[in-house]
Amino acid sequence: CGIVGYVGKRNVKDAKDIIIDGLKKLEYRGYDSSGIALNIGGRLEVRKHVGRIANLEKLMEGETLNGNIGIGHTRWATHGAPSDLNAHPHCNCDESIAVVHNGIIENYVEIKEWLAQEYGIKFKSETDTEVIAHLIGIYYDGDLENAVFKAVAKMRGAYAIGVVAAAEPDKIVAVRKDAPLIAGLGEGCNFIASDIPALLKHVRKIYLIENNETVVVTADNVKIYNEDHKEVKREVFHVTWDA
Ligand code: GLU
Repeated sequence: CGIVGYVGKRNVKDAKDIIIDGLKKLEYRGYDSSGIALNIGGRLEVRKHVGRIANLEKLMEGETLNGNIGIGHTRWATHGAPSDLNAHPHCNCDESIAVVHNGIIENYVEIKEWLAQEYGIKFKSETDTEVIAHLIGIYYDGDLENAVFKAVAKMRGAYAIGVVAAAEPDKIVAVRKDAPLIAGLGEGCNFIASDIPALLKHVRKIYLIENNETVVVTADNVKIYNEDHKEVKREVFHVTWDA
């Protein structure tokens, strides 16, 4: 339902508060649970909770979760009841990959059966989203955008996804297919989001990601690729209104 991702320089560990704040700006869309994945020293720390974002904040109270990169989500359940386990982000088995997802993967049952049969994968949730994390996981060999390209080739449906890898603490990869996605251009940091209001506190310069495009976001760079994995140039869109 709502996606926010942030990547800053490695020594600026303010990802958690920026992402939570961004998720709150998307509350108007409605949601049933929320969650966040932060890369802390090369490990993906995932926290998620059913209900309001305040519940997620409570869950993290007293924890020091200082990271420079992360992805967050507010969920509007389509597959699997609202629950802590079904909330996003979802991970692959060794938690080297975390995914947030808006929309629906139409062929998730087929992919799920294939992953279980071929790779013996056991699923933790009832969501269509979890298959994305495992798919990216089986293709991952240290190059996140390549693994995402391969996974997306197997997925049918309407979706926007945001992905991070434990071993790549400087990069978010996101894909848009028939669901909104933007990239925000900051100073020494960059963002992804499903909606402009999530980012307005931090950025005015935006790339509107088009259908079937993949965006690779680091602290200093935002690169957009088309379906053929060729880099495309985009005009900067300047937001002149306030949230
Ligand atoms: N289909 C996914 C789920 O049910 C994502 C729903 C959403 O867009 O929030 O978990």
